Amino acid sequence: MSSFRNFTFSIIGIAHSCYKEKFGIPRQPGLVTEATARIELIAPYNRLDTLEGLEQFSHIWVQFVFHACINEKWKAKVRPPRLGGKEKLGVFATRATHRPNPIGLSVIKLGKIYQEEKKVFIDLHGADLLDGTPIIDIKPYLPYADSIPNAQGGFAPSPSPVMDVHFSPLANQQCEDYKALHNRDIATLIKQIVQQDPRPSYLAGQIDREHGTSIWDINVKWCARHDHMEILYLETMDT
Ligand code: SAM
Repeated sequence: MSSFRNFTFSIIGIAHSCYKEKFGIPRQPGLVTEATARIELIAPYNRLDTLEGLEQFSHIWVQFVFHACINEKWKAKVRPPRLGGKEKLGVFATRATHRPNPIGLSVIKLGKIYQEEKKVFIDLHGADLLDGTPIIDIKPYLPYADSIPNAQGGFAPSPSPVMDVHFSPLANQQCEDYKALHNRDIATLIKQIVQQDPRPSYLAGQIDREHGTSIWDINVKWCARHDHMEILYLETMDT
């Protein structure tokens, strides 16, 4: 038997992201294009020369640790939300967060690479990463090898359909105030998040129930109506 059964990896960076809790994060990258995040490289990898040449690519593979569920057990069969929580599949046939090695893999649009007060950052667009996510590797996305146009998509052949999203007059005003203060298009971010219907399968039928999703320094209150999602109001969180 091989002696190579256990390996130790070191974290190369930490993601700082608009998503302050798991609830609301899209199930894959690229679905919420307005979401912003940046990876801060940590010592001894916090050097610009480790990234030299990466700026030639539009997208990168990011490997990370599902650190927020590291203490929860994995199961051989899981219920993908995509199947309405009704059907079980083998864990390795899914992108479930609870897996024997809790490693996530996302292809993400690359933004600016820069140094700020001796720290090295990589801007990301449309990431599906929780704030504080430990990053274990970054690689360039190679379209000729990584994109397979006729590949079969199993139980998830295309993105899920999105819901209509309406803003209450109060939420609308709060988004405008937020934009004026922080120069962030929070309304588009909220719309893109809520239109994915982030509710877990067991709550999917529930109408008019208030949900809260934490992004940046606000908690967005929203609920599902019969044929659309409604953004109710925004609450500022203590940071
Ligand atoms: N694209 C990745 C993959 O396929 O490995 C992640 C897919 S996973 C289904 C996406 C979910 O991971 C998000 O909805 C979010 O709730 C969760 N997530 C993101 N960062 C996490 C973290 N650091 N710890 C635990 N869960 C996380």
